Amino acid sequence: MKNSYDIIIIGMGPAGVSAALYAHRAGSDVLVIGGESNALAKAEKIDNYYGVPKGTSGPQLFEMGVNQLKDNNIDTLEGQVVSIEWYGDFGVKTVENSFTAKSVILATGTQRRAPKIEGLKDFEGRGVSYCAVCDGFFYRGKTVAVLGEGEYAAEEAAYLKNLAQKVYILTNGKAPQKIADGVEYIDKKLAQIKGEATVQQVVFEDGSTIDTSGVFVAEGVAGAGDFARKLGAELSGNSIAADEKCATNIPGLYAAGDNLGGMLQVAKAVYQGAVAGSESAKYVRSLKGN
Ligand SMILES: Cc1cc2nc3c(=O)[nH]c(=O)nc-3n(C[C@H](O)[C@H](O)[C@H](O)COP(=O)(O)OP(=O)(O)OC[C@H]3O[C@@H](n4cnc5c(N)ncnc54)[C@H](O)[C@@H]3O)c2cc1C
Repeated sequence: MKNSYDIIIIGMGPAGVSAALYAHRAGSDVLVIGGESNALAKAEKIDNYYGVPKGTSGPQLFEMGVNQLKDNNIDTLEGQVVSIEWYGDFGVKTVENSFTAKSVILATGTQRRAPKIEGLKDFEGRGVSYCAVCDGFFYRGKTVAVLGEGEYAAEEAAYLKNLAQKVYILTNGKAPQKIADGVEYIDKKLAQIKGEATVQQVVFEDGSTIDTSGVFVAEGVAGAGDFARKLGAELSGNSIAADEKCATNIPGLYAAGDNLGGMLQVAKAVYQGAVAGSESAKYVRSLKGN
């Protein structure tokens, strides 16, 4: 596998696979990064998609899509993207690798839901943040907590460690998947986020507390909304904002499928994947002057 591609597609579900097929056939050099589709994994039967034999399950459809990528010799990587940067080109980091690309297509499925913790919503923008790169600067020399248990939380904590005086990772009762250096882990369940004008304290279910100036939410795997915030891409509610060409406001950044909201169906994801793949390939060609 190379380190540099024309297009990197994040997501291996219907939108990501469709985008890859169209971009590849338009002559682009494509890498698809992703894992199991949470949505398809839950779908017992997909009986309403064109040409699919009756009784085909979501996991079967997912496997057919991944095989289609392999049959077309499109590079794939099973993995989790933890950060995307934009500096004209895109830098895409997984847990173990770093890549560059001229264009990125977000096909990561629906947004993660924020955990239901008393005070979390109330303090959004007043100490509760969803983006370390965007807001970490405001916590220089302070104590902050990252809410999450996985690679993404560890990545956010590693960024904050360079700025904050102390960083906690709060796993909210879950086992940490990765231990980040120089960070204190607390695995108790959270009950409440408290403060006055801004966040001051996290209260756990056992009644114990820690003082903190900020809580960065980074549960599970980073989703399209997390990437959009870091890149400065516009959101529309919980979905990515894109035009009819699936283009976002960031040049070269496209989105397709459930992460654009609307009808959450395979047919729509496949259509938008086709549009995003074709438009992204056009964008790359325009950069190369042809
Ligand atoms: C219970 C249930 C039943 C359904 N039944 C039907 C049905 O009958 N018919 C129908 O048309 N639709 C159905 N759907 C909806 C359908 O599954 C989705 O609309 C479709 O899968 C969306 O495709 P997508 O490619 O946008 O996202 P997804 O299929 O969700 O794929 C997202 C991809 O992104 C990857 N990803 C996410 N974050 C990262 C990251 N940080 N790094 C790397 N990869 C990442 C995931 O691993 C996955 O590969 C159902 C959904 C559910 C939940």
